[in-house]
Amino acid sequence: VSHYLNNIQTKAHLNAFVEVYGQSALKQAEEIDEKLANGNAGKLAGMVIGIKDVLCYQGHESNASSKILKGYEAQFTATAVQRLIDQDAIIIGRLNCDEFGMGSSNENSAHGKVLNALDEDRVPGGSSGGSAVAVQANLCTASLGTDTGGSVRQPAAFTGVIGMKPTYSRVSRWGLIAYASSFDTIGIFSRTVKDNALIMETIAGHDEFDSTSSRKPILSYSQLLHFEKKTKVAYLKETLESHALQPEIRENTFAILDKLKEEGHEVEEVSFPMLEYILPTYYILTTAEASSNLSRFDGAKYGYRSPNAHNLESMYKLTRSEGFGEEVKRRIMLGTFVLSASYYDAYFTKAQKVRRMIKDFTEDLLSDFDYIIMPTTPTSAFRFGEHRDDPVAMYLEDLFTVQASVSGVPAISIPNGKDKNGMPIGLQIMSNSFKEAELYAFSNYLK
Ligand code: GLN
Repeated sequence: VSHYLNNIQTKAHLNAFVEVYGQSALKQAEEIDEKLANGNAGKLAGMVIGIKDVLCYQGHESNASSKILKGYEAQFTATAVQRLIDQDAIIIGRLNCDEFGMGSSNENSAHGKVLNALDEDRVPGGSSGGSAVAVQANLCTASLGTDTGGSVRQPAAFTGVIGMKPTYSRVSRWGLIAYASSFDTIGIFSRTVKDNALIMETIAGHDEFDSTSSRKPILSYSQLLHFEKKTKVAYLKETLESHALQPEIRENTFAILDKLKEEGHEVEEVSFPMLEYILPTYYILTTAEASSNLSRFDGAKYGYRSPNAHNLESMYKLTRSEGFGEEVKRRIMLGTFVLSASYYDAYFTKAQKVRRMIKDFTEDLLSDFDYIIMPTTPTSAFRFGEHRDDPVAMYLEDLFTVQASVSGVPAISIPNGKDKNGMPIGLQIMSNSFKEAELYAFSNYLK
């Protein structure tokens, strides 16, 4: 803990942590030392973990990196966080992110931007940028992030660490401040596959507080990392032909596919004609869900209330106008529009149908093949400000990550070399729902 606290201090300018629980972490460490001496410590004893600022931790502030939640103190602890604590992991602090998880560069945070430790002029990715940099810069052993459309995998790719999004419903969302409830998942950043697997098997599983959480049994992922079978891998033609794709990323992805072929695995090209509908589907459905989820922030119950209000209506209006950032407002407006009576069928209902088609295609493909491989992102970490005035260009960064989110299947990003500027490249692997064990084992083999 002291080692990490020291690193956090010397790398404070990266702005990964919003709050550090120094004293309580040190105290917890002493207690765990004692348990270790007595032989009754939990299985995460020794792990020091940071949590994204959208997860509730009782008695601590949680802001979703938004001004509107300034001063909000969590009344209870997120199930995933509680399960870490129950196994003697130490929670060292709260990590910066894009406001309510909306963004791909961590530039939309009320706490300011997070710097990529490998090149401080470049973004760390988002929305879980702080969680990625905390692991990248060795400020903690591992961290929790959330992934609605790529927010764990994309920043993992941009910072050169491992980022795992589990199957939707595998990890309870209780205590996670919602962005888009039918997409939201809690994911994990780590430097090794083994750490990631160990944390996942600890936080996964049914929770009576989240009725959508799955009752399927959890395997001991960290004990199942040995991989020796011959496997069947698909890659999607359109992803590797996309003109948005940076050449080195294409090369490194093909290099892995070639290596797999040489080692005797079956590798096949498959066409995915729906690629161009994926982003519109994702952004219609997530903004719709966000506009509904974020209606609860009205100045009455949580966090910020405008001091300029003079009656109930102006309290709502001013609190929301002053409390939400630009990107969040854009999404609330878009979501409200697609849910409005005259456009509901044209946009929302249609997007739900396309979601079903994408999900069916993905699941069918993953019953014929063990894995789908593609780049995590079309580009490596870009410079600050590059997409700031062009939200659509920013949304394009999610081109490859949203398929798993729209379909609910698990996906992992592992490092796959560097580009010509020395920035990391991510390789994304998807498997069918609840095949986390297979995904970890294969990642372990590829790394
Ligand atoms: N960048 C995507 C978005 O802005 C993904 C965010 C996420 O996964 N939380 O919606």
